[in-house]
Amino acid sequence: MKNFVIAIDGPAGAGKSTVAKLVAKKLGFLYVDTGAMYRALTLKAINEKIPFSDEGKLIEMAKNTEIELQDNEMGYKVFLDGQDVSEAIRTEEVSKGTQFVASILQIREILWKMQRDFRERNPLVMEGRDIGSKVFPDAQLKIFLDASVEERAKRRYLQLKEISLEGDLKTIEREIIERDEKDRKRSISPLIRQPDAFYIDTTGMTIPQVVEKIISLYKKSTMH
Ligand code: C5P
Repeated sequence: MKNFVIAIDGPAGAGKSTVAKLVAKKLGFLYVDTGAMYRALTLKAINEKIPFSDEGKLIEMAKNTEIELQDNEMGYKVFLDGQDVSEAIRTEEVSKGTQFVASILQIREILWKMQRDFRERNPLVMEGRDIGSKVFPDAQLKIFLDASVEERAKRRYLQLKEISLEGDLKTIEREIIERDEKDRKRSISPLIRQPDAFYIDTTGMTIPQVVEKIISLYKKSTMH
């Protein structure tokens, strides 16, 4: 029997991280933020001054990178080649750069393998853009989280403020619209709503309500 996977996909700022973390905690599952992996590689490319147009170098870099996701009492942390980059990967510069890294097939293949390996040892709540479609098409429960653009921009703005990063609401809104367009329209592994995914529009819903909804879907899916 394969470990249980709750796949949560959706656009930027739909509340995936907050909700996925809480669901994972409630069920005792491992939480995996795949966006953080694309962000970590993007940060490394920026630090090493590798141009986003140089696919060969980016692929080579990805092959020689260690990404570790830590989920314990200390919170959720992202390590890039042994360094804690949990906050450094959240800047707008990194957010913008992810589109280049995320559209290279060989890079996605490297990350897909890492993502699939998590299931060997743990039941998972994994969030991203292509979890239900590509990483785990056989996930036992698929969720597509959505919210209005205004709501998503507001959430992103508050999230950035929480970690003391500057952000301007209008700029964030524009950036979110652009990033979604790119995520939905790219040819490799675009953000799509799978027919077998439960669609949840979180606009106007509180975090506990969304968490409860997913937990109840989980319970239903394990009832037979
Ligand atoms: O989830 P987050 O907003 O941190 O993701 C950052 C970017 O990484 C996304 O805009 C997308 O381009 C890319 N990504 C992806 N596939 C995933 C997760 C994230 O392409 N599964």
